[in-house]
Amino acid sequence: MSKFVYAFNEGSKDLTELLGEKGANLSEMTRIGLPVPFGFTVTSQACNQYVLDGCTISEDICREIFAKLEELEEVTGKKFGSKQDPLLVAVRASAGCAGAAIPGAVLNLGLNDAIAECLKQTGNSEFVDDCRRKLQQTYAETVGSGKVPEDPREQLLAAIAAIFSAWNSSLDGDTDAVEAGVSEVGIAVCVQAMAFGNLGEDSCVGIAHSRSPQSGEKKLCGEFWQNTKVPVSDRSAAKPLDEMAELFPAAFADLVRISEVLEKYFLDMQDMEFVVTCGKLYMVQTGTAKRTAAAAVKAAADMACEGLISKEMAVLRVEPGKAPGARSACSEEFEKILSWADEIRTLKIRANLDGAEDLKIAAEMGAEGIGLCRTEYILLREEHMPALCQLLIAENEQQKKLAAERLFQCQKKGFKAVFKAMEDKPVAIRLMDAPLSAILPREESDAEKIAAQTGISVGRMKEAFEQFREMNPMLGHRGCRLAVTYPEIAQLQTRAIMEAAIEIQQESEIEIAPEIMVPLIGIDKEMEFVKDIVVRTAQRCCEERGCVIRFYVGTMIEVPRAALIADKIAREVDFFSFGASDLTQMTFGFSRDDTEVMIAEYIRKGILTEDPFRTIDRDGIGSLMETAVKAGRQAKPTLKIGLCGEHGGDPASIAFCHQLGLNYVSCRPQLLFAARIAAAQAAIRDKK
Ligand code: PEP
Ligand code: MG
Repeated sequence: MSKFVYAFNEGSKDLTELLGEKGANLSEMTRIGLPVPFGFTVTSQACNQYVLDGCTISEDICREIFAKLEELEEVTGKKFGSKQDPLLVAVRASAGCAGAAIPGAVLNLGLNDAIAECLKQTGNSEFVDDCRRKLQQTYAETVGSGKVPEDPREQLLAAIAAIFSAWNSSLDGDTDAVEAGVSEVGIAVCVQAMAFGNLGEDSCVGIAHSRSPQSGEKKLCGEFWQNTKVPVSDRSAAKPLDEMAELFPAAFADLVRISEVLEKYFLDMQDMEFVVTCGKLYMVQTGTAKRTAAAAVKAAADMACEGLISKEMAVLRVEPGKAPGARSACSEEFEKILSWADEIRTLKIRANLDGAEDLKIAAEMGAEGIGLCRTEYILLREEHMPALCQLLIAENEQQKKLAAERLFQCQKKGFKAVFKAMEDKPVAIRLMDAPLSAILPREESDAEKIAAQTGISVGRMKEAFEQFREMNPMLGHRGCRLAVTYPEIAQLQTRAIMEAAIEIQQESEIEIAPEIMVPLIGIDKEMEFVKDIVVRTAQRCCEERGCVIRFYVGTMIEVPRAALIADKIAREVDFFSFGASDLTQMTFGFSRDDTEVMIAEYIRKGILTEDPFRTIDRDGIGSLMETAVKAGRQAKPTLKIGLCGEHGGDPASIAFCHQLGLNYVSCRPQLLFAARIAAAQAAIRDKK
């Protein structure tokens, strides 16, 4: 038979799902002998049962609740419903997971008119009135606006039922919660003997943080309300926690000590709630502290340096995407976390280059190389458009040669800058990928302008644009297909890469070994064809310059067919680099540029759980990647494999790449810090 109610001394953090975080932590505090007013927790399973029973608390559960209430009476020496020395309790919701909608606490349950009258006769009627008022107010907020019932047991059950019901209705129609499995977890309820912070000037209630939630600095902070006759939400009456040292020296000393005990016990920053009754401190709850990104970084680094947690745990504590934002607030600690992440991770992290300014960011943010230099950022600049048109359209061979030379020079200059900045780090430069139909000017006025600049007739220009027009450019004349139809583009790009490498190697005396990457391969013969152009051109460059340059030829894996015949392709190349955006586009058949709104709708309707253009879809794309990695490495054990493009900055995708045993991921340079941390987290979780 299920057990629906646990006394505080029966629970533990292993039962967090049943007891909620609050209930589990109250049990832990009780077990380690901290001053916690005794009580019990009605489990989240009881909540589920309540919902299943049509929103009623079953007799069995009632019986268990009252049995535990009797135990509580024994421990406190007070009686629930007694007029002489009544036991009053606080009832609080205790959620098992973050993000749950939690109703507020109901205080002083067990008080009624008759008991209040009786208590007043023994003195301190101000205190009794205040307790009564707080009961009415908190009861109205959580249970409803009706009068508080006279029967204390009825009050207690109504408060528990109200929390269960609030939980149930907060989930109504909330598909996110249902999907997250939150609805199956339910909510627990803690029933705890009241500790009074309103018994006089030597009483107070307060909240304390073991470290600053804003900065993470190791200093107990928070606020308290002395002899509180106002709701804790009234901030005007709050005093900073520092003042407690003078007003409540003994209780404050205890709080400082307990805060350290709790951090050591839970190994994390704590948010605590306490009550001081006639000078004596009681802990009424503790939990993992909420914190800013900066506080998360600082506290994690400090706690590791204090020996409280390991470096691995510290790295796991920071959210990759938020951590970089903390850099200016706590740069020393941020650098520590980053250096530990670098020690731990096995994936190399490179940067994608989409413009000259990316190069600076990549170098500053610790890129271990360039995983994708999209050459379009140089080649397709407006000033180069006439030359590109001449190369593709002009009928005059002399003109074509001049155009090729001009494009070669501008590419070479750009590549030299990349090699120079990256020194001996690997640089993968991708041959032109963009579809011609999308890059050549389409407007009549542009055609006229270029015609005037190049000497190509307007008629020829228009005819050529017509010829390049495509219904579906992303599946059209792009990627390696350009190298097949216009080998001169691949030749001039290879020559630019090789000459740039030769010159920088000669200038710097650092070995430069370019990686030449071919996009959109789907057929092994296609790879053979393009590789032949690249290798022959590269060798010719070396011969002409009398210089030996090591270079590598690789392919992007972004056409599903390439993943399926990876063994054949691997025999032709030195490396693979997954282009997961195109792979996703072609495998799902979703346009990567037009489906954002539709995908959001798919997610809302539960058809997809994630945007596959942001996070790799493990089932489909992941399976193709796995196939490619296995087949590729089987055919060529030395094959280097990476992933470049947008997914390279996504922590979940990085974790997947780690699991697949890739050598590197390459991300937007702005995401390098986050990627370095995410790669370390993946390695830590993998070891676990
Ligand atoms: C990709 O398709 O994932 C990729 C890296 O190439 P691009 O984004 O340039 O198409
Ligand atoms: Mg691509």
